Amino acid sequence: MIIVLKQDATEAQIEHILEKIREWGLTPSLSRGEERSIIGVIGNESILRVKPVDVFPGVDYTMNVVKPYKLANAAFHPARTVIELPALKGAPPVRIGGNDLVVMAGPCAVESREGLLEVAQCVKEAGATVLRAGAFKPRTSPYAFQGMGVKGLAILAEAREKYGLHIVSEVMDTRDVEMIAEMCDIIQIGARNMQNFNLLKVVGRCDKPVMIKRGLSSTIQELLMSAEYVMSQGNHRVILCERGIRTFEPMTRNTLDLSAVPVLNRESHLPVIVDPSHGTGHWDLVSPMACAAVAAGTDGVMVEVHPRPEEAFSDGSQSLLPEKFRLMMKQMRAIAGAVGKTM
Ligand code: PEP
Ligand code: MN
Repeated sequence: MIIVLKQDATEAQIEHILEKIREWGLTPSLSRGEERSIIGVIGNESILRVKPVDVFPGVDYTMNVVKPYKLANAAFHPARTVIELPALKGAPPVRIGGNDLVVMAGPCAVESREGLLEVAQCVKEAGATVLRAGAFKPRTSPYAFQGMGVKGLAILAEAREKYGLHIVSEVMDTRDVEMIAEMCDIIQIGARNMQNFNLLKVVGRCDKPVMIKRGLSSTIQELLMSAEYVMSQGNHRVILCERGIRTFEPMTRNTLDLSAVPVLNRESHLPVIVDPSHGTGHWDLVSPMACAAVAAGTDGVMVEVHPRPEEAFSDGSQSLLPEKFRLMMKQMRAIAGAVGKTM
């Protein structure tokens, strides 16, 4: 930590601060400047998180030079995390975070058995390896379709069995974590629950990979701190997902922050996925942004696909028709080759 002192800080105030820092087992180093002086503090700085250094007389402000995320921090884990999902039906295992580009695709929600199996077949044939669909849906309106719940999970399990696709689905309630962990290959924490710390702690104690979607108004650091919550409980198989943030721009549902991809790749060793469907809200923007995400270094994309978007219970306007999805896959493949990824 760096403590910047007020211009009029007195010698007695400075001495008092230095004394306290030594008392906490840390080493202070005072640098006197022309206009103002600063104190650098080294040692185990975690104690400073609970000490109100800012309020000491003579202190102007403080700056943290140490990152608050440790387990998620690339500096503490030089090798990149690769999450391997088991081989299904003779297909090679799916690796998230290595050189492979992973495509997670499917409808916004499980709407019916027939509908889900239809999409599953289409995304499988086009090359996706993970099937997405919500059984528990976080809807803005309590009157909107809330998802099929447990029945939806059973349908997802059937699609997994039939097509050898891994399943990712959202959990919203700590009481459902065990059940969803049993039925799915990846547990999704939705944007609205990114800072539901109790939920993060509970998924942190289960043995399935967890994909955390960036909150609607959350910073990249806050996303990393949510990953830290999960990892602090012992589950280190965490995937980060950029899905757009709220800005003043009304032409898109959210503003997809693609700069988050190289930032996350620099700051963390965890795999990064981009969701251009929720990130833009419009089907015609999904493919260009998916391609841009690949160019930016993402480890995969998550996209919504629906054979009849006009009939979708949710998010039809951002869902790709199967033929558009196939085209997107072709375009992504070309870019993947250029950035050293395979799909
Ligand atoms: C979803 O992926 O189903 C979803 C609800 O997305 P988000 O949490 O990013 O809004
Ligand atoms: Mn959706």
